[in-house]
Amino acid sequence: MRCKCGNVIEPSATGRPRKWCTDCRPVRTTVKGDQPAALAAVVVPPDAEPGPLERAALAELGAVDRVETLAGAAVLDLARSLDQGLHTGSQRAALHARLLDARRVALEGASRKADSVDELQQRRRALRGRTA
Ligand SMILES: [Zn+2]
Repeated sequence: MRCKCGNVIEPSATGRPRKWCTDCRPVRTTVKGDQPAALAAVVVPPDAEPGPLERAALAELGAVDRVETLAGAAVLDLARSLDQGLHTGSQRAALHARLLDARRVALEGASRKADSVDELQQRRRALRGRTA
């Protein structure tokens, strides 16, 4: 969904469809106390520098042209989430496991393709050896 101004509309916390982005119509804050500050800490600006995990994920996915796949997006999402560093130790461990799972799916066909290329080159080399 996009706002009339061209910004992507963030889904509302209430699940109610929104017609405007947060720039045009800032979200009304009804929560009191220290909650808004806690929520604000989770928000990462979209133009923030990618963290170490996201950079590594982008490099791996980019090398095999898998950045714009569903699994690739899942990898980047998990990497970004971990890079924010807002999780407890056990949460990080669980997210790392999911990240590596998603990464395996994202790179699956690609590594097999690379393997078969290697195999082909080995066969060619073997053939050349025989005829030489
Ligand atoms: Zn807007």
